Amino acid sequence: MSSTAASISKLDDKTRKKYVYYFGEGHAEGNAKMKDILGGKGAGLAEMTNIGVPVPPGFTISTEVCTYFYDHGKSYPPDLRDAVAENLGRVEHVVGRKFGDPAKPLLVSVRSGARASMPGMMDTILNLGLNDETVQGLARSSNDERFALDSYRRFIQMYSDVVLEVDKEHFEHELFALRDKAGVQTDAEIPADALRELVGTYKKIVREKTGKDFPQDVHDQLWGAIGAVFGSWNNQRAITYRKLNGIPDDWGTAVNVQSMVFGNMGDDCATGVAFTRNPSNGERKFFGEYLPNAQGEDVVAGIRTPLPISKAQVVADEKSLEETMPSVYAQLEDVYKKLESHYRDMQDIEFTIQSGKLYLLQTRTGKRTGFAAVKIACDMVGEGLIVPRAAVERVEAGQIIQLLAPVFDAKEKEKALKGGRLLGRGLPAGPGAAAGRIAFNAEHAVQMAKDDDPVILVRIETSPEDIAGMHSAAGILTTRGGLTSHAAVVARGMGRPCVVGAGALKVDYGRGELRAEGHEPLEEGDWVSLDGTTGEILGGKLPTKPSEVLQVLVENTMKPEQSEVYRNFDRLLKWADEIRTLGVRTNADTPNDARTARLFGAAGIGLCRTEHMFFAEERIIRVREMILARNEEGRRRALEAILPFQKADFEGIFRELDGMPVTIRLLDPPLHEFLPQNEGQISALARDMGWGFVELRAKVNQLHEVNPMLGHRGCRLGITYPEIYEMQVRAIFQAACDVKKDGIDVHPEVMIPLVGTVKELQLTADMTRRVAAEVIEERGVDVPVIVGTMIEIPRAALIAEQLGEIAEFFSFGTNDLTQMTFGYSRDDAGSFLPEYVEKKILPKDPFESIDTVGVGQLVRLGTERGRSANPKLKVGVCGEHGGDPDSIRFFRSVNLDYVSCSPYRVPVARLAAAQAELEQKAYEG
Ligand code: ADP
Ligand code: MG
Ligand code: MG
Repeated sequence: MSSTAASISKLDDKTRKKYVYYFGEGHAEGNAKMKDILGGKGAGLAEMTNIGVPVPPGFTISTEVCTYFYDHGKSYPPDLRDAVAENLGRVEHVVGRKFGDPAKPLLVSVRSGARASMPGMMDTILNLGLNDETVQGLARSSNDERFALDSYRRFIQMYSDVVLEVDKEHFEHELFALRDKAGVQTDAEIPADALRELVGTYKKIVREKTGKDFPQDVHDQLWGAIGAVFGSWNNQRAITYRKLNGIPDDWGTAVNVQSMVFGNMGDDCATGVAFTRNPSNGERKFFGEYLPNAQGEDVVAGIRTPLPISKAQVVADEKSLEETMPSVYAQLEDVYKKLESHYRDMQDIEFTIQSGKLYLLQTRTGKRTGFAAVKIACDMVGEGLIVPRAAVERVEAGQIIQLLAPVFDAKEKEKALKGGRLLGRGLPAGPGAAAGRIAFNAEHAVQMAKDDDPVILVRIETSPEDIAGMHSAAGILTTRGGLTSHAAVVARGMGRPCVVGAGALKVDYGRGELRAEGHEPLEEGDWVSLDGTTGEILGGKLPTKPSEVLQVLVENTMKPEQSEVYRNFDRLLKWADEIRTLGVRTNADTPNDARTARLFGAAGIGLCRTEHMFFAEERIIRVREMILARNEEGRRRALEAILPFQKADFEGIFRELDGMPVTIRLLDPPLHEFLPQNEGQISALARDMGWGFVELRAKVNQLHEVNPMLGHRGCRLGITYPEIYEMQVRAIFQAACDVKKDGIDVHPEVMIPLVGTVKELQLTADMTRRVAAEVIEERGVDVPVIVGTMIEIPRAALIAEQLGEIAEFFSFGTNDLTQMTFGYSRDDAGSFLPEYVEKKILPKDPFESIDTVGVGQLVRLGTERGRSANPKLKVGVCGEHGGDPDSIRFFRSVNLDYVSCSPYRVPVARLAAAQAELEQKAYEG
């Protein structure tokens, strides 16, 4: 080779992309940080290998191949085959078996693994490399024919299901029939002869359904499986899961090819799954399930009921792993402790025991409920495993709201239990209380959830096809499966109350019944109540009561010492408060809401809507009089009658807020919203007010607008009927002065809505300052007068520099701003937005999460322009987005001062604001 050629090939070698990463024998080419290219599973296998945890050797084909695959008409990079062959060779060498060797065959699993774990979404194939010849080799080399045939029948079924698309039902049907014929309960008891027959039947099924023989060439098998894994990235279940969890479609999956270890080789073999701590409540207890003489998915599939791994978990007389295989259990304990302290987080692990030896097949950060997330984070800080900042980082902000969800009223539940309403018990898989109407399948659940009543999805077991139904349900009940079953894992992820494995209950899909011994069968639509914290299932609708956090903070019916849930909630949020710079206020219109929000940690009110005060019983009549008044004088008279009510409302809020800022928005909605719309109501009102019916109806019609959201509302009303805004400003400042007189500090901030021109703000702000000054003068008490505007019309964001000269604060009304920037009516967008998201025209519903590239740019630009005129300008957000973690991240990045959200979102916003801060710091370096 000439020297140039040599250097070119060297260069080639260097620039040749690495697509395959080996792991085995205590050394791996990848590590935990390489999730993006190895996927979560591959990165975990590599890391475990590196830290000396026993892992069967194998290799990972990177996610970049998946991307390549979809970019190149489902083909592979040219040198992939060589790389796979080379790595397969390494595995063969280490294991001492050869792939396809009829005497001593190497078998592998082909496993998918995306960056973010997608439970049950992608399909794994075990025992690949078996054919009619190698199965005999396996039987001879293991001295166990039954085991070899058991592996082969599993392989044919999985491979046919995943790669050849032969429904697994055909195989299962035969398997069940065989079990009956042999008179045995479990697969593990089926004798070898029967299994041999079964394999024959399976192959026949394949031939019938596909018109071809089951592939005997092991390399065809391998590449068929690899292709199927990449293909499964775009199956419907995977797509749905990604959509629900916000996982980008272009991440792709990796493929792991790994030498098999066997949990189905006899009674000193087993397979299991475990959590290093309890994923439902966060208790620091090793926790898991296993099945002796079983393989792979048997534990999760709910075919046999799995056994507890630790003695502490035993409830009846099951034999725990700790008792049956004490030395393996000891190994497992060592491994789990090693993994937890290495990852410094709760791990979800999969293991297999082959002839008394332990192997780990997976580790990942365990999914957990909000309760468990908060407890584990706080406990780990206490144990010195992590610092408070890490605790704040790792609890998903949206999850903390679970701690505020209602629980069943203990007294009511006691009564129901005594009254014989307990239908049965299952395993408590997702804490919290839920009562709802029964739906027996996912489709019905989705449908029924559209009505008002909550739905409980009741299934024998769930599968990934049920995801949408689980999402719609308020609670989930299954009669089969353990705490690591699909239902349990998914419910925990979604934060749904969930009870699984309630074996005493029978679901009969055919008749549409849920039966419990000694009870009338329940039908679809009947009420049922689930306690996901205790596992109890009760007939009927059980009343709920506030969560422990609310009981401590708001109701004062519990003391902090009595509630660990509360104490952890409080600790975590205090750590968050130390980190965050973004303020959190609340949207509240009543002293009661204001109080709740303050107790949840709000630093003031970012939006107090005054129109809600107009609707109350005794006032609406005055409001109508005002609207219907024939002239200004009549209006003023009616307004005078309303003023004391408004003043009293403001006083209540000021007292509750005790010195915190209160942003009060002057009247915003169009006036016709206060008038009755149908003829019956109009005639009643006409009678009450001494008007003629025809006359009143004409007035109502006159106020009717074609497009009221863009009509006569907001400051447009304040300008055409200045007496309305004057009354409101007077009420605000009278209340402020009077409260101040009682020694309570007040900080009213008057907010002008729907401003689109400078003049609108100029006129209303001047009026506000003038009236406020008059009141302060009259009352002889000094309170600060702060006037600002909402930025919710795109034009306002554009002219923010001029508005900033007049306003002391801006508050972005992102609901209206989104509506007007997109030109989507908030009230009508429901008919097309879901499809827009589906078709990826939009990444998300822009009313839920701020559209950062469009609407968000108006927020950024408006803020910058406003501050260029007034560097002291305070800027906040008061739309629904103020409580959405992703939006909060964006608002922090454009340097807003605060977000304002509904009271129950305040804890979420505090945590999200801290997380946004940490990300911002990391970004800025
Ligand atoms: P999932 O992502 O659905 O959990 P996995 O790839 O983890 O799928 O595999 C499914 C099951 O098969 C798991 O129980 C796993 O432990 C088991 N398994 C995977 N590979 C092997 C192997 N090489 N040897 C033994 N069991 C395996
Ligand atoms: Mg797994
Ligand atoms: Mg608005």
